[in-house]
Amino acid sequence: MAITDFERYPLTFGPSPVHELKRLSAHLGGAGVWAKREDVNSGLAFGGNKTRKLEYIVPDILASGADTLVSIGGYQSNHTRQVAAVAAHLGLKSRLVQERWVDWDDPVNDKVGNIELSRIMGADVRLDSAGFDIGIRSSWENAIAEVEAAGGRPYPIPAGASEHKFGALGFVNWAHEVAEQEKELGVFFDTIVVCTVTGSTHAGMIAGFAALEAAGGPRRQVIGIDASATLDKTRDQVKRIANNAAELIGLGRGITDDEVDIRPGWEGPAYGIPEESTVNAIRTTAQLEGVILDPVYEGKSMAGLLDLVGEGTVGKDSTVLYAHLGGQLALNAYSSIF
Ligand code: PLP
Repeated sequence: MAITDFERYPLTFGPSPVHELKRLSAHLGGAGVWAKREDVNSGLAFGGNKTRKLEYIVPDILASGADTLVSIGGYQSNHTRQVAAVAAHLGLKSRLVQERWVDWDDPVNDKVGNIELSRIMGADVRLDSAGFDIGIRSSWENAIAEVEAAGGRPYPIPAGASEHKFGALGFVNWAHEVAEQEKELGVFFDTIVVCTVTGSTHAGMIAGFAALEAAGGPRRQVIGIDASATLDKTRDQVKRIANNAAELIGLGRGITDDEVDIRPGWEGPAYGIPEESTVNAIRTTAQLEGVILDPVYEGKSMAGLLDLVGEGTVGKDSTVLYAHLGGQLALNAYSSIF
């Protein structure tokens, strides 16, 4: 099946904008850097990468007859905020498990930003003291059972919508969108840089670009920057999800280890904890471009991009596409670092 054969429920405005980061490129003195903006992809509660993933999950939700979306993330999860928005948009309820994924003691960490918006949108938000893990959690399974016991019809959406059978399709579609936008703009992105944590964003890109290449398209590198600080687990998860997506879209071969390129070095001491390179990348991008990044995800992937391009690992003749996946609302819980 081709990506166009899968049912997609539109939640985004259409193709997300692509634009050049001219002053950042000049600052780096070589490679051209562009951004594709999932942070402005939708009118639903500020959108983001999960909104794009959910476009391919909503048809299954509607077919299931569920009345409650059940999902999980950290206190400042962008994902659960997007699930709450999609539930509101569809006239469904949402039950969100918000775990203490980040050992971050900002006094408003569980009150502002993403979690505040989820509460405003009517989600049933429950805090849980468990720490970070991208795997399947018992707290989430319990929440599903509780909804059922109360007579509801739950629809489970795992963390980051990643370990869902259709979780990667949104970013398979993203790859096709990039190929179309390249034609319109007369540009070729030989390198894509993306933040990787629960994995289906990166996995979808791998499968999507592999399918385009199999159809005669050019080869390019997709570099994931780890922000999980649990690299081996993330790498395994990306490969598993990419293989699943490859099978769904009929790629006709498995994904190789070489294709799962996830680089460590910018993840900081732990998931959700920024380090100096994160804060520098946030300030640099804001001050050169007026583009805002968050300290959990995009600040880390941009720190990776700045170093890879700056030190010449990504060549000066490259044209790089930075996937901006959203996430700025979490900045509200990190005011102390600025
Ligand atoms: N960037 C932002 C803003 C996110 O919310 C997430 C979600 O985890 C990611 C990057 C990483 O995406 P994924 O979990 O699909 O690896």
